Amino acid sequence: MNLTISPNINLEASATLAINEEVKAMWNRGETVYHLGFGEARFAVHPKIEEALKTNAHRKAYPPVQGIPELREAVANYYGNFLNLDFSAEQVIIAPGSKALLYAVQMALDADVLLASPSWVSYAPQAQLLHKQAIHVKSTSDNAFALELEQLDEALKRCTRPHKLLIINSPNNPTGRVLEPAFLQSLADYCRKHNIIVMSDEIYGKVTFDFEEHSAIKHKSLASYYPEGTIILGGLSKHLSLGGWRLGKAIIPKTMLELTQAINAIASEIWSAPSAPIQYAAVTAYSQDADIESYINACVSLHAARSSYIWKEISKLGIRCPQPQGAFYMMPDFNQYREGLSAKGIHNSKDLASYLLKNYSIATLPSQAFGLADSELALRLSTSFIDLETDEAAKDVLNHWQGDWQAGMSFDDLVKQKHPNTAKMLEQFGSFVEHIQGRTP
Ligand code: PLP
Repeated sequence: MNLTISPNINLEASATLAINEEVKAMWNRGETVYHLGFGEARFAVHPKIEEALKTNAHRKAYPPVQGIPELREAVANYYGNFLNLDFSAEQVIIAPGSKALLYAVQMALDADVLLASPSWVSYAPQAQLLHKQAIHVKSTSDNAFALELEQLDEALKRCTRPHKLLIINSPNNPTGRVLEPAFLQSLADYCRKHNIIVMSDEIYGKVTFDFEEHSAIKHKSLASYYPEGTIILGGLSKHLSLGGWRLGKAIIPKTMLELTQAINAIASEIWSAPSAPIQYAAVTAYSQDADIESYINACVSLHAARSSYIWKEISKLGIRCPQPQGAFYMMPDFNQYREGLSAKGIHNSKDLASYLLKNYSIATLPSQAFGLADSELALRLSTSFIDLETDEAAKDVLNHWQGDWQAGMSFDDLVKQKHPNTAKMLEQFGSFVEHIQGRTP
């Protein structure tokens, strides 16, 4: 058959899903791979949420397009309480994953899309699917990949449409960095002045490392400073490890009723509504139940312990990497080893990721996939998978963690006891650094 695929459709699957499939194929062939390529939270479904899904399995009617009213009410209360803001159920839209909503908002708004760099792998391809230009706001490893207003100003000059949509993401995938209140305030002032609508991807909002030495780090939404212009995105995938349930939410500013109508129109023509049983189970997930909240805290503290440990150990090897403060990612850069890397035929981040996978069995993603310049030799490491490869391992590590944590044991000990693959992966990283410095052949 003679097919003509639209030129705006890149036939490659999303980089993050592709690496996950590649790693699984390698595992199936019996090969060793240390999987730092995929950001999937791995913990078990909380029993109360699982029970709620079973109880609601009989629900078979099409739900309302915007989401069932009970869930929209629960989401408004949950995030109102979490962010200390006032939301109503009318502002909430439920969809099969926040990815679908990120796409629908871009589709609904006649605006150029401004992206902080590095940024999550799907924003720019979504813009491309919609024939929009995604304009990257530059950042570099020298300033820890931070979003800066001067660079935003530069990017604004490249916009051609009168309206602009800026996408931000904190805690951040790929860097694990959190935007601080003072910066959010200045960003709010800037966006208000330039009439920029912001899509604030807060899917990791509950995954911040706000304990121990990180006690100052708490998630704040841009909506606290810029309520009239901030669309908040999120869902169940990360803090409750429910990625496969496909449930996301958007909270639209009260002043953007037309946008809510537009997204509902898009949803009604594409996905109709998320599955009814999942929505009823999500009411329990958003019920502010004390057991569920303490489970979230335990999972988050384990993510934090694992990320902090890996960050500390790779920093000891001399690798530069901004310290993660949330989510389950970090972005080390290898620019200081440029000469040694070039001698091995590694000229960009894609070469670097392939080399590490082929020679050191470490799966990562290249910084290119996150919109950084080709010349930047950085990688995204995801810490959510390693040593939690099976459901049993994830349960076992979390059980130990809950016991040890309550008994006041150190994070590092637990990581050492229950993380053999992490230890081997760090050894491999050590050998790689020796190798590119020319100390080993
Ligand atoms: N936003 C970010 C930054 C993500 O990392 C992800 C998933 O990896 C998503 C959005 C999409 O999440 P979901 O569609 O599962 O709600």
